[in-house]
Amino acid sequence: MRILLVTPPMIQLNTPYPATAYLTGFLRQHAQELALDVSQADASILLFLRLFSAPLVSRMADVLRARAKAAGKRATVPPAIAHFLAHADRYAETVEPAIRFLQRRDPSLAFRIVGRAFLPEGPRFAQALDDQIHAAFGALGTTEQARYLASLFVDDLADVWRDGIDPRFELARYGEKLAASSASFDPLHDALTGEPTLVDESLDEITRELLAERKPDVVAITVPFPGNVYGAFRMARTIRAENPKATLILGGGWVNTELRSLRDARVFYYFDYVTLDDGERPLLNLLTRLAGRDAKLLRTYVRKSGKVVLETDPTQHDIPQKDAGIPTYDGLPLDKYVSVMEMLNPMHRFWSDGRWNKITLAHGCYWKKCSFCDVSLDYIGRYDEPSTELILRRIKALIAETGETGFHLVDEAAPPSAMRALAKRLVAEKLSITWWGNIRFEKTFTPELCRLLAESGCVAVSGGLEVASDRLLELMKKGVTVEQVARVTRAFTDAGIMVHAYLMYGFPTETEQDTVDALERVRQLFAAGCIQSAYWHRFSATAHSPIGLNPDAFGIELQPPPDIQFAHNDVAFHDPTGTDHDYLGSGLRKALYNYMHGIGLDADVREWFEPRTNGGRKIVRVPRTKVPANLIETFLEQ
Ligand code: SF4
Repeated sequence: MRILLVTPPMIQLNTPYPATAYLTGFLRQHAQELALDVSQADASILLFLRLFSAPLVSRMADVLRARAKAAGKRATVPPAIAHFLAHADRYAETVEPAIRFLQRRDPSLAFRIVGRAFLPEGPRFAQALDDQIHAAFGALGTTEQARYLASLFVDDLADVWRDGIDPRFELARYGEKLAASSASFDPLHDALTGEPTLVDESLDEITRELLAERKPDVVAITVPFPGNVYGAFRMARTIRAENPKATLILGGGWVNTELRSLRDARVFYYFDYVTLDDGERPLLNLLTRLAGRDAKLLRTYVRKSGKVVLETDPTQHDIPQKDAGIPTYDGLPLDKYVSVMEMLNPMHRFWSDGRWNKITLAHGCYWKKCSFCDVSLDYIGRYDEPSTELILRRIKALIAETGETGFHLVDEAAPPSAMRALAKRLVAEKLSITWWGNIRFEKTFTPELCRLLAESGCVAVSGGLEVASDRLLELMKKGVTVEQVARVTRAFTDAGIMVHAYLMYGFPTETEQDTVDALERVRQLFAAGCIQSAYWHRFSATAHSPIGLNPDAFGIELQPPPDIQFAHNDVAFHDPTGTDHDYLGSGLRKALYNYMHGIGLDADVREWFEPRTNGGRKIVRVPRTKVPANLIETFLEQ
């Protein structure tokens, strides 16, 4: 039986998403007993490379020219499209060299790109200011500067694909709005049965090519995020049409969080089975059954008499980490991934630049208490830490397979004890790797541990500071204080490890004063060199978090959709505190963007918020911060 595991578009471009690599490694352990031939494909990178090729860029130009002609001279054309049409031939000539360069396959092209006469420069280049570029790259950083410019070129073209051809298309997501917390399947169904765009046609073509090449009996598609759902269903639709006998299975992170209330049987026009939570056991049992043997199903939706039924046998259990096997990237085009750099901030590059082997120190989160997090779900709530020995075996196997020594720990929050144990072994064995990952900023990370981690190859960490307010950190059960975060992040920075902080605003009961004060603390953390990068997320109440399960305890009232047939995760809510978080959000984002470029760190935080009126003419400003100007400095001195 041939099984093909697929990552659908769109997702990060620089490295494969790990789900199919983990599952391929696991299923190959059972290849002999079930006569399985397991392969994997990344349709996301395939679609990107197809759309960013000379023939497709030329086809896009033809479509847009014909449309512009039909619309007449008076029609307004978005700037990205106008610029593209004026230089379409040049875009088609340069797109493949630029992509090759971003794949690190043609480094000498950097000299032409930085000359600024090779690539057409559309609206995105407005942000490429000469003095900022010089400050970031100096006179000799030619390759990096060229990577930045080529990334802006890719962004310009992506804008044309989105604005001109398919409004659902973005570089890291496709049709996201059709799926995220959509209680009804209708929008997705309508899009799938509507007129195909050039992006759709390209994906259909890629799907047919994969079918012709791999001839699968079973296709399992993983959907990590809402931005992969449309691509997954689109691929399933083509597979059904081309090979009605193939069995189609849907699973992945988005399914695990959002399809727990699935009732719409139309999903089964596209898929035969939908599995929840870790895929190893449900897939293994399903494949055993498809191989004609007796097997119970675990957390698997099926359609029975036109209804969606969850089949799960209580005697079945998940595969422990120790038996999950060694991930493998075999079959993925590792030399085709594209490293982009869209921001002049060194930490931001970790997410989009470089090929990282993915590894997990433990399944789930050892803390599992944060009130906004999906702690009731398996991927957070079930903690399972394999031995350091096994982690090392996986690391060595991935280096041997890929020839690359960069590792991204994809843990929800890597356990400090496991990090210490791994670091000690890496140092003792003189195994030279470069690694980074997500942690909790807890006090276990002493300066001594941070130095050990750096010595073992750790170059960056990210972690949640969330609301940067001790009152709200306690309410959300984060288990850290601002003081602790200041000390820990400083210890990392002093050890030469870069730090990114996840921030949150709009938490229940958060006032305008709380938000302004949080920004002041964040400003001081940047100014003191504790953090180098950060991102503000807007709080959302999710169905499976303690807040979603017990909103009264947090003073909010949930407003769930009346009839959930399809996806369900983010839940609308009413917070009587009444803070205007939409207004505050834009000021927070502006401040952070500047802080990450080292700008405005001395300015009063109120300056980032636009003046507004209170209905009449009176200008109302955000309140002055109540945080002492030397708060973080004092914490660090103590
Ligand atoms: S937010 Fe992070 S630290 Fe908190 S429970 Fe979730 S995974 Fe764990």
